[in-house]
Parts: sequence; structure tokens; C-alpha cells
Amino acid sequence: MQKKIKEDLALFNQLAKTFLEQEIQNPVAEYIDPEKVEEVIDIKLKEEGIADQELKKVLENILLKSPKSSSNLFFNQLFGGRNSKAVLGDLLTVLLNNSMATYKIAGPQVSVEKEILMQIYNLIGYNHNSAGTFPTGGSMCNFMSLVMARDRKKAEKTDNSLNKLIAYTSENGHYSVSKNASLSGLGKQNVRHIKSNKKGKIDVIEFERQIKFDLKKGLTPFYLNATAGTTVLCAFDNIEELAPICKKYNIWLHLDGAFGGTVIFSKKHKHLVRGINLTDSFCFNAHKTLGAPISTSILAVKKKDYLYNSFNTDANYLYQTHNEDFNLGRTSFECGRRNNALKLWSMWKSIGQNGIAQIIEQEFKLADFARKYIKNNSDYNIYSFEESLAVCFNYKNFDPEDLCLKLYKSNTLMVGFGCFQEKKFIRLVTVNAENSNDDIIRFFNLLENFCQKNKDYIKKI
Ligand SMILES: *Cc1c(COP(=O)(O)O)cnc(C)c1O
Repeated sequence: MQKKIKEDLALFNQLAKTFLEQEIQNPVAEYIDPEKVEEVIDIKLKEEGIADQELKKVLENILLKSPKSSSNLFFNQLFGGRNSKAVLGDLLTVLLNNSMATYKIAGPQVSVEKEILMQIYNLIGYNHNSAGTFPTGGSMCNFMSLVMARDRKKAEKTDNSLNKLIAYTSENGHYSVSKNASLSGLGKQNVRHIKSNKKGKIDVIEFERQIKFDLKKGLTPFYLNATAGTTVLCAFDNIEELAPICKKYNIWLHLDGAFGGTVIFSKKHKHLVRGINLTDSFCFNAHKTLGAPISTSILAVKKKDYLYNSFNTDANYLYQTHNEDFNLGRTSFECGRRNNALKLWSMWKSIGQNGIAQIIEQEFKLADFARKYIKNNSDYNIYSFEESLAVCFNYKNFDPEDLCLKLYKSNTLMVGFGCFQEKKFIRLVTVNAENSNDDIIRFFNLLENFCQKNKDYIKKI
């Protein structure tokens, strides 16, 4: 058994070496039509197995033909780059293969998770009465917050008016809010998407107006999903203004920081979430701006009891030793749960909190640099605001959607488009702290040259 894993780890190292070399030489993988994948790669499974050397070839083919999400030309998603210490931690997680449900099966790894959570409570002004967990992603963090909010409201109400609950988010809130409303039984139709102002932040006056309107109709407002870094514009809702309204109407305030929540690590940018200590729950994704592998999501809940009340269930086949403080399954949705904390812990331990702050600050600097480039060039129109990691723009009169598609299919660049208040634009996200200003210039040069060469063939706005 030991011999086999050692051989396969040697194989891993060989594959990794080839992959990492190719990441530099060909930062954008060759586009393959989805219908043609099986012609290019031997994907089919058969009754008979294959020799290791053959398997190596197929795996190499899969590696080299997959989109290269860590390369310096990947701007397509809200994640990018990789923190190598986090990768190391995650590889060890696979090797260890514990599950985070109980102390008996996870041992010291429980402390790894608890230590990160404690640090987060300190950073956001929660306290020893707080609790948290590492759900499978930002969507799941949002789901758990909605469930806690619902259960809190349910416990308050003596009549049976659960079907009248109303949740709020911004028109720019994440799509998981609607999905979660379905999952929780609340129903999508009971989510109000509040209009935002010109900068993409929830219109606070409109929010209170909608609450009053709903109350008048006999409905029960119970939950606000505010955003720290909206998915398209990276706008930060104003927590200081929203919190008093939530308090007044007894609405659970959740801050979805999946994208921008990591500003809590930076003294320079933390002001974007001022008032975060007034929230009932908060989440962020270390797999987006921090370069940890997918997924590394953290949910913090100000008052421990809500997490326990909603997610603690007895299971005597599982919980046989130690108390609930060390049996993390008591406060998670999943039963078998991989350790998604060790990767963040490994990088945090290695570079310290200051190192994490530098990652975030570098990303804001890259965004500033890109905005400056755009503003100094009259061929561009800018749609993004200061202190945002999403640099939204259009180039000349090229249609952003068609341009992104053609950049992708020609293996030139991986970048996507977004929409805000009837405008469509290219969205350059600076979420890879390993990139330098030169990489940003290279991005613009590649885009400009491509447009020059293909100007007759790209659609116009
Ligand atoms: C990415 C994102 C999410 C979802 O996170 P996943 O980990 O992909 O489930 C939620 N909210 C916002 C604002 C996001 O940007």
C-alpha cells in the first residue's frame, strides 16, 4: 500500500512539473469544442484497465487541455492564481483524509479550524459567544444564514405565519439567495431584490420603504443578505446604514463577503465593511481573493446559539466522545466534511496576517493600475468605481460579449462580461495577487492587438 502511494506521488510530481511549465508557456489552454472532447482526449471508461504509463499520458492530456485558472492570463472568474502554501496544505488534507465531524476522527485538525474561526471573530468584532464553520462554499454559507434567520423568526412567532416570511437582498446580490429561498421552502417569490444606487450599493431608503410596504401587507420581513463585494461591480453595501434598519425591524443581517469580505485582513481597506460587528453573520471565500484552492469558505455567526439551534442534531453512532465544542459536526450542514481549513491555516501560519493583508492590497493596487490605464486612454469607457476589484470597461465600439467569446475561442485571453443598469461591459477582475502591473498591461495589449487584427469580424455595439 505504501509502495503504491509513493509511486503515484512520484507520478504526481512529474505531471505537476509538466503542467507548471506549460502554464507559463501557454497561459491560455487550447479551446476545444465540447462535442469534440472525446476525440481529443481518451475519456471513455472501459472494462479493462490501462498501464500506468498510459494513464499518465491521458492525465497529462487532461491537465494540459483544461482551462488554466492559475495562469497570468486568467481573469474569467472571481478566483485566480494560487497560494503555494495553501496548495501544500490542501494536498496534505487529501493525504490525511480525516473528516471534520468529531474530535475522534479529526484530532488536532479541529484546533486548526477553531483557531482560524477565533481569529476571524477578533477581526470582525465578534466574541467568545460566537460560532462558525467551514461550509462547502459561499452559496452554502448564505443558505445556512437564511436557515438560522428563519428559525430565529419562527421561534419568535406564536402564530403559524411562516409562509409570510420575506427575505431581502440587493438587485446585485448573489444568485444563491434565490436558490436558497427555494431550498429552504421560503420560495423564490418571497425574495425582494432592492434597487441599488448608481455605484451598485443597496439603496437604503428603498430598503426601508419596501419593509414598510411588506409589513402593511401583513408579511414578515426577517432576513437581509447584504454584500461585501457584489459579483459584477464589487460594490460594498453600507453596513453602518443598513444595520440600524435591520435592528429596528428585527431582521437578521447577513453579510455575504464571498468576493470582497477578505478586506477584513487589511487595515487599509477594512473601512469598506465598517459596521461589520453589527451583523448577525458574515462569510467570505478564501478561494477567491486569497488564492486558496476551491473551496475555502468561512461562516461566522455572532451568537453561537443560532448555529447550534439550527444545525445541531443528535446522532449517537457519530458523537461518542468529547463535547460539542470539539465535535464540529454539531454545527455543520455536512456529515463527512473534508478539512478546508488546513490550506488557509498553512498559508496564514507561513505568511502571517500581514502577508494576507499584502495579498489583498496588491489586488486593489492592480485594480487601480488598470483603472488608470483605462482612464488615460480615450478608446476605453470605464464602468467601475474606486476601491473595487472588478474593473469594468468597454473598448472602442466592440460588443463586449462577442469580444470575450472570440478572445476565448482564439486562445488569447480568459475574461468575461457583466451587466449593470442596462450596460454591458468587459469585467477584468484583479483577484490574482501574483500578477504584476506588467501582466495587466499585457492583458490590455493582447486585447487591443486582437481587436486591431479582427476588427471587421467582431460585432459592434
Ligand atoms: C462567488 C460568490 C458567492 C458564491 O460562492 P461559492 O463559493 O461559489 O458558492 C456568493 N456571493 C458572492 C457575492 C459571490 O461573489
